Amino acid sequence: MTSYAHILKPLHLGFTTIKNRVVMGSMHTGLEDRFYNYPKLAAYFGERAKGGVGLIITGGISPNRQGWLLPAGGTMNSLADIPHHRLVTHAVHKHGGKILMQILHAGRYGYQPFIVSASPIKSPISPFKPRQMSEKNILDTIEDYARCSELAKKAGYDGIEIMGSEGYLLNQFLSRHVNQREDRWGGAIENRMRFAIEIVKAIREKVGEKFIISFRLSMLDLVHDGNTMQEVIIVAKALEKVGVTLLNTGIGWHEARVPTIVTSVPRAAFVDYTAYVKQHVTIPVIASNRINMPDVAENILATGKADMIQMARPLLADAFWVTKVATNRVDEINTCIACNQACLDHTFKNQRATCLVNPRAAYETELTYIKTKKPKKIAVVGGGVAGMSAATVAASRGHQVTLFEASHDVGGQFNLAKVVPGKEEFHETIRYFKVQIEKTGVDLRLNTRVNREQLEREGFDEVIVATGVIPRQLKIQGSDAPQVLSYAEVLKGASVGHKVAVIGAGGIGFDVSEFLLRPEHQPQPQPLAQWQREWGIDPMPDYITEGGLVPTELEPPVRQIYLLQRKTSPLGVGLGKTSGWVHRAQLKKHAVRMMRGVQYKAVTNEGLWIELDGHDQLLRVDTIVVCAGQESVKDIMPKEDENTLAHYHIIGGAKLAAELDAKRAIREGAELAAKL
Ligand code: NAP
Ligand code: SF4
Repeated sequence: MTSYAHILKPLHLGFTTIKNRVVMGSMHTGLEDRFYNYPKLAAYFGERAKGGVGLIITGGISPNRQGWLLPAGGTMNSLADIPHHRLVTHAVHKHGGKILMQILHAGRYGYQPFIVSASPIKSPISPFKPRQMSEKNILDTIEDYARCSELAKKAGYDGIEIMGSEGYLLNQFLSRHVNQREDRWGGAIENRMRFAIEIVKAIREKVGEKFIISFRLSMLDLVHDGNTMQEVIIVAKALEKVGVTLLNTGIGWHEARVPTIVTSVPRAAFVDYTAYVKQHVTIPVIASNRINMPDVAENILATGKADMIQMARPLLADAFWVTKVATNRVDEINTCIACNQACLDHTFKNQRATCLVNPRAAYETELTYIKTKKPKKIAVVGGGVAGMSAATVAASRGHQVTLFEASHDVGGQFNLAKVVPGKEEFHETIRYFKVQIEKTGVDLRLNTRVNREQLEREGFDEVIVATGVIPRQLKIQGSDAPQVLSYAEVLKGASVGHKVAVIGAGGIGFDVSEFLLRPEHQPQPQPLAQWQREWGIDPMPDYITEGGLVPTELEPPVRQIYLLQRKTSPLGVGLGKTSGWVHRAQLKKHAVRMMRGVQYKAVTNEGLWIELDGHDQLLRVDTIVVCAGQESVKDIMPKEDENTLAHYHIIGGAKLAAELDAKRAIREGAELAAKL
């Protein structure tokens, strides 16, 4: 018996058994939209089933064309769709997993002109205005759901999940936020839920009793005129009555202005809402959102707050999460850091989703780490994430790898990121790589600033230069004054005054501003109750408000901050699509003065002189923090015409400091090491 007995306990549903309590939640990868990508999709799900996941839920598949999220998105409405899906169900069943196909009708969230909804109210996240569904349109759509489910059964799925949350069509009917109808599909909750209930009934009639129907119910809408908890419970009970097998958790509409999954959301922040609903039904209930590590999952299950744990991104990050839990290798889990950079941000840009910490995710057939038949002697110079990625992949393939790191520890820029409030998860990536370094037998040499002569002397076949970056310095009059600090100095604990100018408003300028807003001894991660107050979330067990929203309560910032950039575009537009708005909102709420179109003139004892709109202006600040990007460090790279014994390669920030990001660094390291 491991200490994760609750996670690993089978769940008996009467007609079928799920081998453990881990659900891979639905997440759009982009592969499900094109049938020629189904072999890749099958490999992606197959690897997670092999890794021990009990129940997998596919990305959303529309029951008809009106329901498309994107033009020509994945649809299941004809027999011709079945063979492609069979590849997926077979790949999962081969490893003893179960799989549900999620049916998602986007309603007014569709990014296409034929969208429909409960009422003709445009959403803030689609440029198209929906048409109000007629009675006939509703009845036809119910039939489409039933037919879609029947086809899913024929394709070998163990069941379907009905997407009824996150603001998609059924959620639009369930809530007054969009449903302003006065017919039998609108008005009181009993009418608003009719559409969802009739869909479940029609599906159950078509598929029989021995087929899983999961319903993803919005337990907290986080939009104005959203449902109250009382209404959520009425819907949950009604769903149970008409034959839903599993009740899954949805939190927040996509248009909600409260973060629900980004890294600054405390772990398991919403589990108490699920636990409350669970008290009112007898079917198994699935908890979701920001659950990424086994101790959190086990605790939720052991305390009876939920019957299953849903994770989507954590299983992109590590397909073998369950196996590692079952074999007491939790320290080997590659933890999802909830950055969204390679998964959701890709999806919203219509690119294939993958994972920042695991570049193989959704590339299982393309990025393979095959054991080498010709082991080489490889040096990796630099122990940031690029270097660690290259070193550990190369060593796992059987190469003899030495990793040189000039400082006393590995981690590079991640050591700075992990101290930013809300970025504590970055610790986990460093932990993961450290364990991998040990397990794969990388010879780690810390405090070793190696030079080319040494590398040549030691007879390496390949040298991978991953020496990273240094912060760019500000070059204006007075910029060598002691009150001018680099972001690295600040994040390492340098003393900072009460009035601060932050120069450069990229990701790091935003991070540093958030770091400086908080008191020095603010507990990290942020306590849940404080986080809920900051974002105006009605906490359990008192949650009575519509949509679960209450006025925000902010702790006053400890510093007055000016965040500056030279560009005239709005600050933070280049931040991640799904997380940038959170950072912008945080700084705005904490009265950070954001200034654009600024020219930096001089630093004096009085502060920072800038030019704005053609006028010189003094910002009376005590400290100036420079977050003006980075420059590559690559002195060790030979010149093109230089002869060397080893082959040299360059990756990560050392290769290109502009647009440096961890996603590129880790992928470059892995891709290079996979080829050597
Ligand atoms: P960055 O995004 O390139 O931003 C650097 C900023 O410095 C720019 O906005 C630029 O704005 C300014 N700048 C550039 N040269 C300057 C100069 N000579 N003098 C004064 N200002 C100058 O770089 P970063 O903020 O250091 O972030 C590095 C990478 O880390 C990013 O690309 C990002 O991928 C990643 N990151 C992301 C996040 C996130 O998404 N939350 C957080 C942290 C890091 P102007 O030229 O307009 O002044
Ligand atoms: Fe998690 Fe980031 Fe990977 Fe997405 S890209 S799965 S959020 S670590």
